Amino acid sequence: MKTWLFALQQQLSRQIRENKLPHALLFSGVDGAGQEDIAHWLINVLLCQDLKQDLPQNIPPETEENLSQVSPVSQVSPVSKVSPVSKVSEETTNVQPFIFQPCGYCKTCKLFANGSYPDHLTIVNDKNTIGVDAIRKLSQFFEKTAHIGIAKTALVNHADTMTVSAANALLKTLEEPTSQSFIMLTTHSSDVLLPTIISRCQKFEIRPPVGKKLLAEYKKQGNDAFVNLSHLSELTDEATAVAFTAFRDKVKDYLCAHQHRAEILTLLVERHDGFRWLEKILVNLMRNQWGWPTAGHENQQASVINKQQLWQVYNLVQAANIKLKTLVQVNRQFLSEKLLADISLVVEQKNQ
Ligand SMILES: [Zn+2]
Repeated sequence: MKTWLFALQQQLSRQIRENKLPHALLFSGVDGAGQEDIAHWLINVLLCQDLKQDLPQNIPPETEENLSQVSPVSQVSPVSKVSPVSKVSEETTNVQPFIFQPCGYCKTCKLFANGSYPDHLTIVNDKNTIGVDAIRKLSQFFEKTAHIGIAKTALVNHADTMTVSAANALLKTLEEPTSQSFIMLTTHSSDVLLPTIISRCQKFEIRPPVGKKLLAEYKKQGNDAFVNLSHLSELTDEATAVAFTAFRDKVKDYLCAHQHRAEILTLLVERHDGFRWLEKILVNLMRNQWGWPTAGHENQQASVINKQQLWQVYNLVQAANIKLKTLVQVNRQFLSEKLLADISLVVEQKNQ
């Protein structure tokens, strides 16, 4: 578990013990902040039949500091109808810190670990959106009686990708909770979610450390000044880092020699952070061309295109990124194809 999540684990553990865990929880943070990790842990804790407690001496010392990094909106505990900025009551803050941990070997832990626990449902975004059918499935899931009877849980990852009708369908389920049912939503951009959804959830904004502290966390070398949260998913996950590097190399080839168009297009369409990656690659290429230090390793990049062209390409990418973030149900395939066509036009100018 990422160390900056310990404080949140403590808070949620306390809420569980006091029977104050709300029916709906929303975990948001940049990619890699750990929203999925915390949701997964919490679900497992709710289902486990033989919970363990991590005692204070097992909780790393950074915890107190982390506690202050959990945003104020998460410092709430009433059960339902949570007001966004209520405070932790005096008596609960004095309780010794502890973290619940699932045992890992009881029947339900084992079923959950191999994905076959019948009273849990995970909704995944298919082709970048979560449609109304998936949410209806979730509502029906909660209407049925529990198989094992401990708690029923559902996880909606990338909740920001719900269509408007899916979000409206979810609202109904959030409004009429069945007993011992818990819905967790995760997102990397809660500002895209309907306010009516947010208001029905207890919201936890996860804010990992930045700069030197972040690098220290992963024992990585780099230029501190430019390590920020946009690098988090690449830092925290090796597979993501590899995918990012491969994508960066392809983008460079595309800019110099118009290669890999199909692969770049696929990635832009299928990866939710593809546009952000592209923007980041261009920023680093520009920094490099202006002789500024970069956090990555773009140094081997020759002057593939001139500064002016790079600037134009960057503006195209940024504009596309804004469209993607602000327009509801944007056609991602069309947007990606148009962007690549526009970039080609800019790049081809160098031959004239
Ligand atoms: Zn267990």
